[in-house]
Amino acid sequence: MFSSLEGKSVLVTGASTGIGLGIARQFALQGAKVLITARSADKIEAVAAQLRAEGLHVHGLAADVADIASVVAMMNTVQELHGGLDVLCCNAGIFPNSTLENLTEADWDRVLATNTKGTFLSVQAALPLLRNAEYGRVILTSSITGPVTGSPGWVHYGASKAAQLGFMRTAAIELAKDGITVNAVLPGNIVTAGFLDVDAEYQAGVAASIPAKRLGTPEDVASAVMFFASREAGYITGQSLIIDGGQVLPESLQSLD
Ligand code: NDP
Repeated sequence: MFSSLEGKSVLVTGASTGIGLGIARQFALQGAKVLITARSADKIEAVAAQLRAEGLHVHGLAADVADIASVVAMMNTVQELHGGLDVLCCNAGIFPNSTLENLTEADWDRVLATNTKGTFLSVQAALPLLRNAEYGRVILTSSITGPVTGSPGWVHYGASKAAQLGFMRTAAIELAKDGITVNAVLPGNIVTAGFLDVDAEYQAGVAASIPAKRLGTPEDVASAVMFFASREAGYITGQSLIIDGGQVLPESLQSLD
């Protein structure tokens, strides 16, 4: 039996759609006060308004996690709106596809700036607020790609997602004495707008490789995030949890029959 998350202050980055929106909705359904962010102001405001119309306590803010001024504004806003911060979900991420041969330095920098630097900036800026929380929680959205698997076209993405876990392990040690845990969810292939942008042949190949015989949903990922956010997960830190329907397990195609 898990304690209620009612009244907790939660910030989810990259939450105008996809996994972030699934995480934000789940927190809000549990009675948390949620600030959602993304770069597109129109989109994040519209999504927040829609969730409020459903009776949920959600505000939206346009913010780019790769930009330090924007990240500071995010923390100031959550402080003003909720009077503090209990749970930070660093979910914003991009996954443009490019082979190693064709990858430009600009593409590399853009992916690392959002996925890795964005995590660092968000967690660092949240520290004063999280230290004031009764128990602070940081949950990163990493991926199986990079930390566990490789996938052609995503050397930069895989590097950025593996780097998040390196960041997590040391941050977890540094923040443990403050009662703050830092953990990561590693989704497999989850049906989101970002995933549907990837070519159809890739999507079909992935779907065939999953023992559970279905792609994941944002709700599948959100359930794991709720666990890490709970009071009861307070003795778990620096850990990662794969949510992939068993996708990383098969050693052969025959295993999937
Ligand atoms: P989507 O592309 O569907 O959504 C991404 C969200 O992040 C949007 O709200 C987007 O809004 C926002 N975003 C992108 N860049 C920034 C930025 N610099 N600052 C703030 N917000 C930003 O992605 P998914 O939901 O599929 O993925 C979410 C996370 O899950 C990512 O970290 C991704 O790497 C990870 N993941 C996804 C998997 C999948 O199969 N879908 C598998 C494994 C991990 P806007 O463009 O307006 O900023």
